[in-house]
Amino acid sequence: MDAVDPSPLRHFVVAKRSITSIFDQLLDFVKDGSSFVDEAWRGDDLGQVAVEEQSLEMQSCATKLSTIREVLLRRHMKVAFFGRTSNGKSTVINAMLRDRVLPSGIGHTTNCFLRVEGTDGDEAYLTTEGTNERRSVGTVNQLAHALHMDPTLDSGSLVKVFWPKSRCALLRDDLVLMDSPGTDVTLELDSWIDKFCLDADVFVLVGNAESTLMNTEKLFFHKVSERISKPNIFILHNRWDASVSEPEYIEEVRKQHLDRCVSFLAEELKVVGLDEAPGRIFFVSAREVLSSRMQRAQGMPETGEPGGALAEGFHERLREFQMFERTFEEFISQSAVKTKFEQHTVRAWQITKAIKAVMDAINIASADRKICCLEEREDQRDRLDFVRGQINRLTDSVRERIKSLTDDVAAKVATALSDQIRSLPVLVDEFRADFNPTQETLELYKTKLLQHVDERMVGSLAHRCSVSVLRDIRDAQRHMIDSVRPLLSLSVQEQLSAPSSSFELTYDLGLATLCADFRENIEFQFSLGWTALVSRFIGAANAKRALSGSDPRLQESSSFKDEMVVSIATGLVSVTSRASMTVLVIGGVVCLRSVCVSQVCRSVGWRLIALSLSLYGLLYLYEKLTWTNASRERALKQQFVEHAAQRLRAVVPVSSSACSQQVYKELSATFSRLTQRVDLSEAELEGNIRQLSFRIQRLENIQRRSKAFRSEAQSHGAGDAAGGLFCSVPAGKLKSAAPRAGSGSGSGSGSAAAPHESLYVEFSF
Ligand code: GDP
Repeated sequence: MDAVDPSPLRHFVVAKRSITSIFDQLLDFVKDGSSFVDEAWRGDDLGQVAVEEQSLEMQSCATKLSTIREVLLRRHMKVAFFGRTSNGKSTVINAMLRDRVLPSGIGHTTNCFLRVEGTDGDEAYLTTEGTNERRSVGTVNQLAHALHMDPTLDSGSLVKVFWPKSRCALLRDDLVLMDSPGTDVTLELDSWIDKFCLDADVFVLVGNAESTLMNTEKLFFHKVSERISKPNIFILHNRWDASVSEPEYIEEVRKQHLDRCVSFLAEELKVVGLDEAPGRIFFVSAREVLSSRMQRAQGMPETGEPGGALAEGFHERLREFQMFERTFEEFISQSAVKTKFEQHTVRAWQITKAIKAVMDAINIASADRKICCLEEREDQRDRLDFVRGQINRLTDSVRERIKSLTDDVAAKVATALSDQIRSLPVLVDEFRADFNPTQETLELYKTKLLQHVDERMVGSLAHRCSVSVLRDIRDAQRHMIDSVRPLLSLSVQEQLSAPSSSFELTYDLGLATLCADFRENIEFQFSLGWTALVSRFIGAANAKRALSGSDPRLQESSSFKDEMVVSIATGLVSVTSRASMTVLVIGGVVCLRSVCVSQVCRSVGWRLIALSLSLYGLLYLYEKLTWTNASRERALKQQFVEHAAQRLRAVVPVSSSACSQQVYKELSATFSRLTQRVDLSEAELEGNIRQLSFRIQRLENIQRRSKAFRSEAQSHGAGDAAGGLFCSVPAGKLKSAAPRAGSGSGSGSGSAAAPHESLYVEFSF
């Protein structure tokens, strides 16, 4: 009947499985959190929102959790049996295990502690302290023999007996039973307690129904309760079957034992209240229970006696033993769940609290950093807009300035060049060189003359224009740099250099080319000769045409006549030459030519004619004699001046525009270099904005994840330190962790429908 009852020990098993599973989940969560914190810590300087300590804290949380998990996996319920030798401790253990596991009836074979626990294998074996060697112990006799024969076993050492779980249901539920050498055989109670009792969940004092509690037994439990607050103690009065021999005193004896034990538990030890104490005291016969259970296992009738005779009161004692077992199981599972898991759930709660704090800090840091980044990105965007707007405005104003400057330069150069053209006679006159009418010397002379005029003109232009133009250029360049500088980033500003001083304005007049067609006329020409006179009055070119008579316009064209009239008039006005006097005289001669000779002869007389002719001849002679090289040079210079002036006048606009072009190029190049710098700054700003956007995205991600981690930590650690861990786990998860928890439980605190509920009850101490 008792074999079908579900054991309350299952609560512990379920709780262990659940808490291990929760710790598994928690560990996974902390590992994820740890790598997240690492990631947040390893960001660049601006994106770093976690510190090394936080990363270390997460790692330490993970380490603690996995250690706890390891410890939890090794956790079991432990019951320790104490009492004097031969009170039947081994027999009680065997009765509970429903098999002869431990040797009995021969006194305690050694002074060792015998710890019985389950093994998944099929073979029973034992290990002794200090060695991992497994010694096979198939039967109880082999075990007794092994213990008896082992000379290495010291008093108070531990022998672990591993018994196949398949042979014993009790051992499947993580229960460990500890048999002790009798309390009467040792003086080392303190060291026993420290070594074997501190982790015991329940203590069973096996007494002898035939004698009362001994002082050594009492002393032992006093010492236990000094170290463990409120130990769970059960007192078994074993060998109760022996009292059947005196049935008339049985109730009286039972009451005496009960009163003494209640007083011991409630008043001396104060581990339970007076009302609860009787529930911890049982009057049993372990031998009978063991015997009946073994008989039952073999299919024999349960009599409680090896011989088969049914002892008096057997069923009552059997029921009491079963009641002890049930009460013991409920106590031990409750106590073990509390003592074995409570501190770890508290620890887990503290860990989740620490994680929550880390995630909070990261969340706040990332939010702060994000705000900074947003503000900085806004600044950078504003700056970019400003730079773009400014550079557009600046480009317009610089263009205007360059235009006005180049116009100015063109005007300046044109004025200076015109002045130079006017002073060309002086420049030419200053020229000194060997003059000889021979062809080679003349060519050389003209080359040198050209060179001289060119140098002097260029020099004068440079003197008049260059300084002010260069100053204007420098001013304009400085203005550009000063206007562009505020638009540049600091790094680009550092690369900004002063305007280059290498620029020079060059004036290329191209005089040699202009005067390449210059042909001098230094042949002697009598100033009163026909050609000269005509030339004088109507210009050399017209004279040539008029005299040659080849031009058909001479007779026909009225405009040509007009030209001639104008030229003559002009010629008359400009009579200022060295032969002006002669001209006056000649005027008469000209008149003579035009007036009838006869008339002249009549009015003046032939003498006068003769005199005039002689004077004319003398004059010719004089001029012929004075037509020296100097005269020729003078004539050449004069012709050159006329020629050069005419050509230069034609190229004034071209030359001045060439100069303004140089200025334009220089200033445009300067501004283009500056705009390139601005482009660099803009690119830098755009890069910064991109980087900040990336950083903001990352920070938002961290913020979101830290919030998620925080709420997960919060849900793990919600509620009370002890029970909250279980409350927070979704029912589905817990069910999967403990699929068969409490199935079929009809009594105690467990329920098949809500395993976590029962756990919660157990944790809500
Ligand atoms: P231990 O030294 O405390 O472990 O005691 P054991 O279990 O070895 O038992 C000592 C002796 O008492 C053995 O001969 C048992 O058969 C006997 N014994 C144990 N329990 C009972 C019992 O309930 N009734 C009787 N009559 N004898 C018992």
